Amino acid sequence: MSLLAGKKALVFGVANKYSIAWAIAEMFKQEGADVGLSYAIPQLEKRVQPLAEELGVTFVEKCDVTSDDEIDAVFEKAGAHFSEIDILVHAIAFAPSNELEGRFYNTSREGFRVAMDISAYSYVALAQRALNLMPNGGSMVTMTYYGAEKVVPHYNVMGVAKAALEASTRYLAADLGPHNIRVNAISAGPIKTLAAAGIAGFRKMLGYVGERAPLRRNIDQEEVAKTALWLCSDLGSGVTGEIVYVDAGYHILGMPEPPEKWE
Ligand code: NAD
Repeated sequence: MSLLAGKKALVFGVANKYSIAWAIAEMFKQEGADVGLSYAIPQLEKRVQPLAEELGVTFVEKCDVTSDDEIDAVFEKAGAHFSEIDILVHAIAFAPSNELEGRFYNTSREGFRVAMDISAYSYVALAQRALNLMPNGGSMVTMTYYGAEKVVPHYNVMGVAKAALEASTRYLAADLGPHNIRVNAISAGPIKTLAAAGIAGFRKMLGYVGERAPLRRNIDQEEVAKTALWLCSDLGSGVTGEIVYVDAGYHILGMPEPPEKWE
């Protein structure tokens, strides 16, 4: 059974084959969806275009989400190509690398603005355009991280931006629910990707979480994609405004020390 047969999905945030957005695009395609891809900057075209061809995706458009004109243009093209869409995937985040090391109190005004604009506001900006292409309802999903709720070393201003993203998810869910559009977020555990590589000490983070998470391992892109699949398919029909964790259970721990260390 194909869970997304007849569905059309727009996926933002593919940079390379390690991107969470790419794993989601692959899974959606495998489940029968017609998929469109968007990437941020011209330099990424040479990586994204071959991936799209591999998947048989013909809608591949550049969109820097800091530009309203580029967002308008990509949705205009999506309207011409798909006429309507059912699914929006937002897997985009950015903060200048100097903000993802050292102390949070050193965050610059510009670093704060950029992180908020690209990592949080862009979900709202994409949702407001996607609404016009979802006359029969749909599903939207974004990617967040536990650093929105708890202090994680070096995550700094990105944690603040993710907190705004999670709150935006709830406000969007309340506004778009009457349009039969569900809006959710997936809180993924650490995965080695381009974005993650920008966080100082990321390898240590992976090791720490993998050792202590209830499942005693890290998660991968495919596991995030499987959760995106149920949220964006009919399997998730009653779920909106949620932050769904795909983190091997790490977030439930009040004292993240494996019990064997006490034995
Ligand atoms: P990634 O680097 O593959 O994806 C991030 C994407 O954001 C890239 O495609 C990049 O081009 C895009 N982007 C940055 N600035 C942009 C702009 N101005 N306009 C348009 N796109 C822009 O890394 P990823 O880990 O797949 O990240 C996807 C999402 O998952 C992000 O929101 C990230 O915070 C989130 N996430 C990642 C992890 C992890 O450990 N990798 C954990 C939890 C959440």
